Amino acid sequence: MAPILELRDVEAGYGPFRALFGVSLTVEPGEAVALIGANGAGKTTLARVASGLLAPSSGTVLVDGTGMAEAAAWRFVRTGVVHAPEGRSVFATLSVEDNLALSFQRAFGRAGLAGALRRAYELFPRLGQRRTQIAGTLSGGEQRMLSLARVLVESPRLLIADELSLGLAPLVVDQVFATLGRIREAGTALLIVEQQVGHALELCDRAAVLEHGLITWQGPAESAGAALESRLFTTGAAH
Ligand code: ATP
Repeated sequence: MAPILELRDVEAGYGPFRALFGVSLTVEPGEAVALIGANGAGKTTLARVASGLLAPSSGTVLVDGTGMAEAAAWRFVRTGVVHAPEGRSVFATLSVEDNLALSFQRAFGRAGLAGALRRAYELFPRLGQRRTQIAGTLSGGEQRMLSLARVLVESPRLLIADELSLGLAPLVVDQVFATLGRIREAGTALLIVEQQVGHALELCDRAAVLEHGLITWQGPAESAGAALESRLFTTGAAH
């Protein structure tokens, strides 16, 4: 079976600035891969290329073995590859349920709305308890859950998550990782960029270390600790 996602010799950047230099990485169906690196190493850039939000300047992105001719996030979404929205992308003045209903109605139509809401509340019981609350008054962690629920209910085959735990209290980080664990168990592959290295390695099968736009180490998550100690932490810039 072809990998669900493959980056082959990808270079990418912003105008004349190169952020990735010939990066190759695969994610197999159902596999969880952690992408680790210091500030500015290119992790977000890689996550954006992998989900069709940014076009590589050279190299190829393949989904299920097929080259994606253009970077268009909607094309990736159609194949089941989705990028978890960063931060708190919710409509602050609408209720939790109205936020969910807006996305679900677009994705599933009126007929599918009730079922999608039920699935979202099963995945995030906390959102069910707060369904009438105005989204802008939710805690940071709850807002993160709300924006995740909006994409997860579509059962992606690969979720690309960029620093989901950023700025959250430790207890909420645990909840976010518990949710990622459940998503994984349900068969969704994960590519996660995380500053919570310990949590990420516990969750993932494999890790890749990105340094200055190059993947300098890849291997099983359980061997990553030693590799990280000799790399990131000597730069003094690791998260
Ligand atoms: P962090 O952990 O700090 O978020 P990162 O590993 O995610 O870092 P990227 O955000 O991918 O790193 O950035 C890689 C490099 O590209 C950095 O040097 C950054 O300054 C640069 N960069 C990112 N976005 C832009 C942009 N829109 N325009 C110009 N340069 C950018």
